[in-house]
Amino acid sequence: MLKLNPEQLQQHATPFYAYDLNLLRQTLQSARQEAQKYNFHVHYALKANANAPVLAEMRQHGFGADCVSGNEVKAAIENGFAPKEVVFAGVGKSDEEINFALEQEIFCFNCESKHELEVLNELAEKKGKTARVALRINPNVNANTHKYITTGLEENKFGINSWELDSVLELLQQLKHVELIGIHFHIGSQITDLTVFKNLCTRVNEFQEWFLAHNIRLEHVNVGGGLGVDYYNPEQHPIPDFAAYFALFNQFLELRPGQQVHFELGRSLVAQCGTLVSRVLYIKNGISTNFAILDAGMTELIRPALYQSYHKIENLTSKKAEVRYDVVGPICESSDCFGKAVMLPETNRGDLIAIRSAGAYGEVMASAYNLRDKAKAIYL
Ligand SMILES: *Cc1c(COP(=O)(O)O)cnc(C)c1O
Repeated sequence: MLKLNPEQLQQHATPFYAYDLNLLRQTLQSARQEAQKYNFHVHYALKANANAPVLAEMRQHGFGADCVSGNEVKAAIENGFAPKEVVFAGVGKSDEEINFALEQEIFCFNCESKHELEVLNELAEKKGKTARVALRINPNVNANTHKYITTGLEENKFGINSWELDSVLELLQQLKHVELIGIHFHIGSQITDLTVFKNLCTRVNEFQEWFLAHNIRLEHVNVGGGLGVDYYNPEQHPIPDFAAYFALFNQFLELRPGQQVHFELGRSLVAQCGTLVSRVLYIKNGISTNFAILDAGMTELIRPALYQSYHKIENLTSKKAEVRYDVVGPICESSDCFGKAVMLPETNRGDLIAIRSAGAYGEVMASAYNLRDKAKAIYL
């Protein structure tokens, strides 16, 4: 499991992302093995990390692709995913993106509003095609996670609310170029309390009853992603507990004969295999704290600034006694801080600093703010 060898890392210009492909493979093997026990189908959510070597592993391990933009659909197909393995979600699909996905004949559009269904129908008709759709339903289940990564509450912008379903069915009867094949849910991310998923199952079962009562047989039930990882102890828990996760859905989802269950995992598959490696530029003694100023910042990993998220920080090169630091980046924003009051071995200019669990929502969220160069990726 992700052994970072300072000598090996020293040769690279910082900052950079280091990916442990062995850990990635072990993680994917575990996820695949546990999902296969129940014949569950897993799509990888590309938005977590869309690097080509990562996508190649996903494909080799038999995962489909879950996309939230036209360019993600394109990336999935260019990286060898079969169009019939691609699903496309998102509240704001543009005409251009929909047209591209229609041309590719992807497996399914996860539709998030009535208006979108109408536009999709119109665009499909122009091409003489029929689009397969799953309705993304907002189940009003609290994910007990950070509010910026909660998506399944009625106050969120995502999905179709339950009180709209009657009128959605009426609409679907008029739309001749969309075919309803399933229902879709995604309630949020970094969910570590499995009872949240049990609550989701209960809601899914209720929606299934509702559709059955309306004489609609759904072939596909997609319960989304959201399984969390242990950001505090990445060494002790490098691989999430996929066994418990899939077993829970197997226990609590009530399926009809022949129904296929789909998952869309992002973070849980890739977070732990990535590390952001940086060098200390300066040490600055403040009034109440010391600042360790790194050459990586929120431009390389925005999660702490965006969601106040915790990432484990290590000094890979110093063996001295521990001192307290605020570990910050060089960007001109006070939120550009990776961790406050972090205990690190006494830290000096040139030391190598590892910011762990950066494989998901790290490199993909990188920005050029302050006209920063894009950090490279290396594969170990
Ligand atoms: C982001 C997203 C996912 C993946 O979420 P993770 O928390 O990374 O597993 C799955 N489905 C949809 C629709 C998403 O937007």
